[in-house]
Amino acid sequence: MSVVSAPPPRVLTVAGSDSGGGAGIQADLKTMLALGVHGMSVVTAVTAQNSLGVQGAWELPVEGVRAQYRSVVDDIGVQAVKTGMLASAELVEVVAELLADTDAPAVVDPVGVSKHGDPLLAASALDSVRTRLLPVATVATPNLDEVAQLTGVRVESESGMRRAAEAVLAYGPRWVVIKGGHLSGEAVDLLTDGSEEHWLRAPRHDNRHTHGTGCTLASAIACGLARGRTVPEAVAAAKAYVTGAIAAGFALGAGIGPVDHGW
Ligand code: PLP
Repeated sequence: MSVVSAPPPRVLTVAGSDSGGGAGIQADLKTMLALGVHGMSVVTAVTAQNSLGVQGAWELPVEGVRAQYRSVVDDIGVQAVKTGMLASAELVEVVAELLADTDAPAVVDPVGVSKHGDPLLAASALDSVRTRLLPVATVATPNLDEVAQLTGVRVESESGMRRAAEAVLAYGPRWVVIKGGHLSGEAVDLLTDGSEEHWLRAPRHDNRHTHGTGCTLASAIACGLARGRTVPEAVAAAKAYVTGAIAAGFALGAGIGPVDHGW
């Protein structure tokens, strides 16, 4: 007799492929596996990438992205969606339109530039991120470089993070996580919806192998939301997950290695 078990929560990532397996779609799916959800992927761009940086990037046609998304959402269904590298204004706009038409929370990681400084989003797409994508986000997760790119607000210390959050919230996401990981000292993030404030703190691990950190955090938040957690609960659990993954990050290749999902 066969036993059919209940399906796990389903989470979709809409992001770029990292051939080195450290960030992007690959980090997202590893996070989802580790957190016990069924991970699905809409590939927006393919990168040739390793521990030294991004050697090349190719976007998919808008129709290919739309078709992948509809295939997944219309049949399998999703309890949460996470977006990452969207590459171009055209892709940002189609993804924003698809999210607006989906009855599931959306975690938007407004990926701009890789840790090595390689552009993952065209400069011409910034306006579409501000006016089309951020308004449909349940949670946006910019780092301080992305905050500066999107809002012009430059944060040099923890005290500037509240102003950064206000500037991002002005574009319409329900919640924002300002990731202060690029500051020195404790790794501090600010989660707020403009009224509630949650400061999330973790000790800084002296480990340079942090490739994929942002993708992992956003995916882990989406996993929590798919399980029905509140945004503050999902973000706190995701912060704990990514802190462990950073502590376990390992050397790979000659450059910056990935965070680890098997800790
Ligand atoms: N490659 C892809 C496809 C990504 O989506 C991202 C980040 O979102 C990166 C690379 C950059 O990762 P990191 O800045 O952690 O090195």
